[in-house]
Amino acid sequence: MAKAKENVVQDQQEEERQELKVNIKDADDIVCEKCEGNYFVPAFIIKRISPLMSPTGQGMFAPVQLFQCGECKHINEEFLNY
Ligand SMILES: [Zn+2]
Repeated sequence: MAKAKENVVQDQQEEERQELKVNIKDADDIVCEKCEGNYFVPAFIIKRISPLMSPTGQGMFAPVQLFQCGECKHINEEFLNY
């Protein structure tokens, strides 16, 4: 018996269509809690949605994007509270 195929949720295209309406100069910089570095690289937590929890009845992966410090690889607490 073949294992149920797991699908990756794809909502990135939709996110890219949203326009940035805030003035970026007025926004606060987030800095790393550990080293105070102010640049970050994208990272993902991948959630495994079990077939029992899934609306489609099929297992799937749900990527959650967060940001990792480019200097020390620390991930700020606020990025984990999604
Ligand atoms: Zn850091």
